[in-house]
Amino acid sequence: MIFGDQLDDGASLLAKLNPATDSVLMMEVAEESQHVPSHIQRTVLFLSAMRHFAAHLEARGFQVRYIRLDDPDNTHSFTTEVARAIADLRPSEVLCTWPGEWRILHQVHSWSKRFDVPVTVLPDEHFLTSVEEFAMWADGRRGLTMEFFYREQRRKTGYLMVGKPALPEGDDWNYDASNRKSFGRAGPKPPPPRPPRVAPDRITHEVIRAVRERLPNLPGRLDGDDAFAWPVTREQALIALHDFIKHRLADFGPYEDAMWTDTPFVYHSVLSPALNLKFLNPRECCEAAIAAYRKKQAPLQSVEAFIRQIIGWREFIRGVYWLEGPDYAQRNGLDQHGKLPEFYWTGETDMACMRSCLSQVVDLAYGNHIQRLMVTGNFALVSGVHPEAISDWYLGMYVDGVDWVTLPNTLGMVMHADRRPDSAAGVTGLVGTKPYAASGKYIERMSNYCKGCRYDPGQRTGSDACPFTVFYWDFLIRNRQRLTTNNRMAMMFKNVNAIAPETRVQISIEATLLRKRFGIDKP
Ligand code: SF4
Repeated sequence: MIFGDQLDDGASLLAKLNPATDSVLMMEVAEESQHVPSHIQRTVLFLSAMRHFAAHLEARGFQVRYIRLDDPDNTHSFTTEVARAIADLRPSEVLCTWPGEWRILHQVHSWSKRFDVPVTVLPDEHFLTSVEEFAMWADGRRGLTMEFFYREQRRKTGYLMVGKPALPEGDDWNYDASNRKSFGRAGPKPPPPRPPRVAPDRITHEVIRAVRERLPNLPGRLDGDDAFAWPVTREQALIALHDFIKHRLADFGPYEDAMWTDTPFVYHSVLSPALNLKFLNPRECCEAAIAAYRKKQAPLQSVEAFIRQIIGWREFIRGVYWLEGPDYAQRNGLDQHGKLPEFYWTGETDMACMRSCLSQVVDLAYGNHIQRLMVTGNFALVSGVHPEAISDWYLGMYVDGVDWVTLPNTLGMVMHADRRPDSAAGVTGLVGTKPYAASGKYIERMSNYCKGCRYDPGQRTGSDACPFTVFYWDFLIRNRQRLTTNNRMAMMFKNVNAIAPETRVQISIEATLLRKRFGIDKP
């Protein structure tokens, strides 16, 4: 059994199969596009990638039982399709790779008893760190700090390590401090080279037709079938990897936090969809970047930043997801209860930054990391949206959304909501040591969005006050008690204390009115 995010040609699962006697089961079921609303381009990507992978397996000699979305007999859930396959194929054993979501793992674990057949779950060897290894690393630690995990990953892989004993290349473990450049007033000159577009082939066109017919109400936009341009095979993903290494890696580091209107990809790799489908292996991505550094085609600050995202953040986030268990999704450490505003689904808002970032998600199913963290995520955090509402949105609306990566990034990094129930007093988060809350001034500094906006990022009260700025101060006022012992926030609360009491009341009133206007209601 191969799920839609397990399209790994080198998976140990495939090595265990005998093409003469065994069958591969792959299923396109409506349930997977509907348990949270899934962007049409995300849905098309998964299904087209699966169909291409199935064709590739058949060319390798495997027998594939492939259930299409528009097959008349399709029952549209994994469990009922597995039941049908077991009745037809009568297997002596069912094998699969560890899935990317607790919900699916629970289903898989129920099948052995339900269908009276042994079900074996193999480890996902795509990742550098197994679920067990991460649990051993985390065991006994008071806090989980990505930076310490990352350093162990560097030592383990030897990536960007030199000498004996091995030390980090360039003497520093990271170059964050020099990687916070904005584009200034002039903007990126010349404009960053865009990633290659993949023209949809016959298979993708068939998928688009089936999705439009069978799942007509998916969110997001796909204006004309040729608007779909994501890699759907490993070969296309490799082209995208080498294009990034050649054309954008060198500037990725310095500008990784910069934003600019109509420049969705900036210098980002845009490889997360191909990585999360498992077309690309994290090791080959890192090794391609290190080779570019050795050939002096990219500076250390960019190569280190890229590698940290892959062997550091990506592996750490997955470790947290499986370590914390299925109840992790229900955490709400800051006790926020607001609804997700309607404009998250349309991009129709008078806030220029949100309009730009959200329209991009609607059009492309993509946002780069800083847009996700400091614009669309920051807004949800400071305005008081419920963490589950925004987590589900991130899972379904981005082309690279899979639960193991989306949930800890949203719940932990963006919403600072993942405090363990048994945490010591004063501890408010697990993945992040403080909330990434910021006012409109941060967005003004790192982008050109504010130039075209009807609001003023410097105003926290009044009719021109930027909603980010109002909500930012209101967030600090609302959470003063809860966050006051966090040393990393001392300066922020010093600034809150300096605000006149009547202005604080005014900020709270204006935040309440804005929440009402945006349909958020209670924070
Ligand atoms: Fe966004 Fe505020 Fe700037 Fe407008 S003024 S673009 S709402 S940060």
